[in-house]
Amino acid sequence: MTGEKDVGPCVKRFAVLQLSGCSGCEVALLNAGEWIDQYRLVYMPLVVSSHNISHVDVLLVTGGIRTDEDLHNLRRAARYADQVVAVGTCAISGGISSLGDRDDVRELFLAQEERRLVPRLLPKCSPIDTAVDVDLYLPGCPPTPELFLAVLQISSDFEPGKTVCQECGRKKVADMRPKHLLGHQHGEVLPDICLINQGFLCVGTSTRGGCRALCTRPGHPCVGCRGPSDAFIEEGTEKWLNVIRRVFSKMTDIPDDELDEALRSPQLSMFLFQFSDYFDADRPPRKKEKVL
Ligand code: SF4
Ligand code: SF4
Repeated sequence: MTGEKDVGPCVKRFAVLQLSGCSGCEVALLNAGEWIDQYRLVYMPLVVSSHNISHVDVLLVTGGIRTDEDLHNLRRAARYADQVVAVGTCAISGGISSLGDRDDVRELFLAQEERRLVPRLLPKCSPIDTAVDVDLYLPGCPPTPELFLAVLQISSDFEPGKTVCQECGRKKVADMRPKHLLGHQHGEVLPDICLINQGFLCVGTSTRGGCRALCTRPGHPCVGCRGPSDAFIEEGTEKWLNVIRRVFSKMTDIPDDELDEALRSPQLSMFLFQFSDYFDADRPPRKKEKVL
């Protein structure tokens, strides 16, 4: 099936190349229907397939480079694109596909005979800008439909807050100082009070806005999937972490080592360290102007 819809000669063309990820980014894009009249989707294996991607104005790439097939498909598709956008944590840093870098996961995979039927795993999962030039980064896990519309320049009035806190609306109070962290699913959450005051590990204070605080407003702490706000994006992960530590020491009596252990837990570190590849010696830092 090619499935291309004839929507007129001036309509831009875009494609979605899915590398190793979970398809959550694709589902978020499909939840934003407004692009249908302005773009022709020419390739997106989840819904529109064809043998090749021919010329497109915009190539959205989701997922990390986990296999030799990912690498081949990415290099080939990027040749036909005017603009390449890295979409989601996986394309920007490897994300969940990086779990395959772990020795125990790799051993489990290599023990399976059927592995010969699937593409070959590369030694390490890599962000897509290790293989092709990226024009724009769209962080989020997944980015919201509104963010996709902003990337495709359909919502002209899109104004992201600098941080998630600015979009959250919960109040920070002086008389609630928790002594320990609570687990993510622990107990009842008060509706209007900042989650830090309630003992939750929320990193919205220095995470870039634009998601409209979809997690924190109903009571789920921010895990930082949008990456650092502009103030830290070219500064390195340690500076971002230090600001988070300072916020917690100002608002809580939680011991430093307890906080540090939680910040470096496998669940959070997938997001908090996602931009650390910016500072590899052989790669220039990604510029904040390129991050939506
Ligand atoms: S960034 Fe998140 S939603 Fe998107 S493919 Fe990766 S894990 Fe899935
Ligand atoms: S709950 Fe999180 S995002 Fe909301 S105000 Fe508190 S720290 Fe900021």
